[in-house]
Amino acid sequence: MRVALLSGGVGGARFARGLVSAVDPAGVTVIGNVGDDLDVLGLAVSPDLDSILYALAGLHDEVRGWGRADESWRALETVSALGGEDWFRLGDRDLGLHLVRTQALRSGEPLSTVTARLAQALGIEAAIVPATDDRLRTWIETPAGSFPFQEWFVARGHRDEVDGVRFEGEAQPAPGVLEALAGADAIVIAPSNPYVSIWPILAVAEIRAALAARRVPCVAVSPLVGGRAVKGPADRMLARMAGGTTPEHVAGCYDGLIDALVVDESDPAGPLAVRRIVTQTLMTDLDASRRLAETVLAAAA
Ligand code: GDP
Ligand code: CA
Repeated sequence: MRVALLSGGVGGARFARGLVSAVDPAGVTVIGNVGDDLDVLGLAVSPDLDSILYALAGLHDEVRGWGRADESWRALETVSALGGEDWFRLGDRDLGLHLVRTQALRSGEPLSTVTARLAQALGIEAAIVPATDDRLRTWIETPAGSFPFQEWFVARGHRDEVDGVRFEGEAQPAPGVLEALAGADAIVIAPSNPYVSIWPILAVAEIRAALAARRVPCVAVSPLVGGRAVKGPADRMLARMAGGTTPEHVAGCYDGLIDALVVDESDPAGPLAVRRIVTQTLMTDLDASRRLAETVLAAAA
């Protein structure tokens, strides 16, 4: 079975792990968000692609929820001691990957090529493709002003309410993205933050058009459990920008693009424009992620 998965970082990566244990990984293409990407200390960092890479390689830190397991922070301690830029946490092991990626990008290699090379070096069988090789950046509109994504999320601790999101950059799909969508038996939208993880992928006009013109089922998984985000600001954003946190509000983020929404048992019933699939969506461990992926694929069959 061939599956194309649209994914943000942590929620998407957790789901991706379940997916590649439910189907042959060789048939899976993960299309990752790059709206969060940033330059830190001269290094090109792609947080969502890295969450996916680390999760699929089994190198991720379960407890922290991001970055690598068995991480240390010596380099960042030195940066702090020297008065350098230390607001964005980069671990020692993690830094190694950013060094390799940055060098490759500087030498002219596209992000998609570097990412494929990293995935291969980490022994990952699934394809991991950035939504675009072009520069695409998420901006967050708040009552306190407009901020680049990471400045709002990390530096300001996403404390500002969000009035809107905006995507800077004219972007074409990276090589492999449209092919994966066209060749898929099922398209899946991961339980990621709709506004800042999935919308930046859909901001690539040709990707949105491919989803709108799909010939196979597209199933989204809600990132909310009982109307609350498992982690992060998705619930607050939905409440403020969509007017609520029910499955209907989540489905509204993907208007015309999905055929079914997978929601948790604890979420309210109520009208829904697409098919509703009710199950346990909390991915407490790999088994839970795999069961969720199996339910999603059954819904797409
Ligand atoms: P980020 O880029 O690291 O913020 O990651 P994503 O956007 O991919 O994932 C963040 C979203 O994942 C949040 O809105 C969480 O509510 C959701 N999430 C995390 N773990 C789970 C889970 O176990 N089940 C469900 N349904 N959603 C989850
Ligand atoms: Ca992210």
